[in-house]
Amino acid sequence: MRRIETQVLVVGAGPAGSMAAKFAARGGARTLLIEKRQEIGAPVRCAEGVSCDWMAECEVAPDPRWIATTPEGARIHAPGGACAVVSAERAGNEVGMVLERSQFDKALAEHAAEAGADILLKTHASDVLREDGAIVGIVGKTLGEDVEIRAAITIGADGFESQMGRWAGIQPPLKTRDVDATFQYRLTNVECDPRYCDFYVGSAAPGGYIWVFPKGPRIANVGIGVQLALLRGKADTKRYLDDWVARQPALARGRPLDMVAGAVSTCPPPRRTVASGLMLVGDAARLIDPLTGGGIVNACLSGKFAGEIAAGAARAGDAGEDALGAYERAWRSRLERKLLRNWLAKERLITLDDPTLDAVVTTLAEVDLGADTLSLLTQIARRHPALVEGFAELLVRV
Ligand code: FAD
Repeated sequence: MRRIETQVLVVGAGPAGSMAAKFAARGGARTLLIEKRQEIGAPVRCAEGVSCDWMAECEVAPDPRWIATTPEGARIHAPGGACAVVSAERAGNEVGMVLERSQFDKALAEHAAEAGADILLKTHASDVLREDGAIVGIVGKTLGEDVEIRAAITIGADGFESQMGRWAGIQPPLKTRDVDATFQYRLTNVECDPRYCDFYVGSAAPGGYIWVFPKGPRIANVGIGVQLALLRGKADTKRYLDDWVARQPALARGRPLDMVAGAVSTCPPPRRTVASGLMLVGDAARLIDPLTGGGIVNACLSGKFAGEIAAGAARAGDAGEDALGAYERAWRSRLERKLLRNWLAKERLITLDDPTLDAVVTTLAEVDLGADTLSLLTQIARRHPALVEGFAELLVRV
């Protein structure tokens, strides 16, 4: 058994983990980032659309190495064909660029390394280590060898399929209505408009939506999210997408370069993301936006908060639940209201039938739309107040 000791251990080198490792190391903590795969950023399980408004805060400068395209805006398509366009100037919030995630994730890990974090690949956690009720690291394997990694603070950044929270006993299982099963092709030989990220709502994607995000000339990420509770079988998600693609003249002659299946959480804000010695970040903490399914921004922000607080806790020699509670307060004050609002909005919108969605998108097409979900919901509230009944008070910018 190999034994390693560090001050801060980060499990998972996705955006949340690399960001946490960067800020923990920057704060002076001896930091180790472990990743179960042999390559950071691969395989990609993401549509790769992201806004730009968080980057300065996380000290990430846009880099052509990981930017595939920079669409001007977004379009929301109703089942009957109505289309609401989000104008270029206002498109900043939910869509801003389409990434090369394989390069983006590596770049974030590079930033962590530059800040002083160590990185171990092919190293996975298979359980947490406990001592006197606190999490004090993990056990697992590194390059096939048994390993015990002890740390004052462990950050669980192990993504949607996270086990860290479950092992620590702080994360209940998700309800099937709070999970979208996803399937995506990277299609070549398609005709897509590089100026827009396209979203298709309605019964073609029950409880979710279909997306077409331009990756380059004649290449697009074409994918679908369907609420797990509405699926009959595992192959259903792919079948919904295949059926829809076959009906789109611009896409039907597309040929796949890769395909991925996955899932996103669409749940309300999590109750608990901290235990003594442990913080959960990004998808592992269930911080994906429940309305859009986008999780990169919240992964980066929560990773930053956790990394900074881990460094402070390491300096102070206090990794108790109260000390790490500062992390939970930080993400809640920044993200909780929006997560709750968008979960309530998702709950309402997934009940709408195709004619109602046609009517909603038709009214949205008549107005100047802001691209963030708050602007969108505010416009829906003006025209269809019944749809926001019960959470209208959350429709204010704070
Ligand atoms: P991840 O990126 O999942 O990283 C977790 C890392 O932990 C992985 O590298 C994994 O290998 C590693 N790991 C897991 N278990 C262990 C272990 N036991 N030991 C060591 N390492 C481990 N979000 C957007 O913002 N925009 C989009 O367009 C978008 N499209 C999506 C499309 C699909 C099909 C899917 C499935 C998701 C999409 N998302 C999108 C969500 C987005 O991909 C995630 O929110 C984001 O990757 C979260 O980052 P993370 O660091 O929390 O987790």
